[in-house]
Amino acid sequence: MNAPDHTRFRVAVAPGELRIVQELLNSASISKAGGDVPDLLDAPDTAARWLAAYGIPGDSPGVGDLRTLRDALRRSLIERDHDPAGDTTPAAVETTVRVRLDADGAVHIGPGSTGIPALGERVLLAVHEAQLTGAWRRVKLCRNPQCLVAFWDGSRNTSGVWHDVRTCGNVANLRKSRARRAARAATAES
Ligand SMILES: [Zn+2]
Repeated sequence: MNAPDHTRFRVAVAPGELRIVQELLNSASISKAGGDVPDLLDAPDTAARWLAAYGIPGDSPGVGDLRTLRDALRRSLIERDHDPAGDTTPAAVETTVRVRLDADGAVHIGPGSTGIPALGERVLLAVHEAQLTGAWRRVKLCRNPQCLVAFWDGSRNTSGVWHDVRTCGNVANLRKSRARRAARAATAES
């Protein structure tokens, strides 16, 4: 299987099914120095390539719903980590899953659909499980507003904020130290 997207931005990859969530989040158009990265689910040819990695034919219906789900998840992460007081209202997304009681008494939850809707259900189930285990706190969008790439925060105390400290982190630190220098210069003059 060709993983479509996790190497797109050289980010730390989330484990298990959360990797699909991360890949979906990073299929969005993301602004980058040197040119914006296009929305992979927008053009039919890139969408077909992205979906093929999950064994889904490119002309399957439901790409629009998948983008809606992706954008709602991105908005909810921005609201959680970047802008808690923001006035964005994440859209509610609803879908159908299948719950099965096996002969051995184990209960399994899985997609209730096929094709693209099933992929969306896998994404929602992965998010649900991660919310139960606490792993969802580790799926983040880079704090750099010019970046917002989804990354897995593997740090011990879940304190990571940059998808890459050397790039986005350095830009922010440079900005901060410039501001500090300017403030010092202003105090020295007065
Ligand atoms: Zn970044």
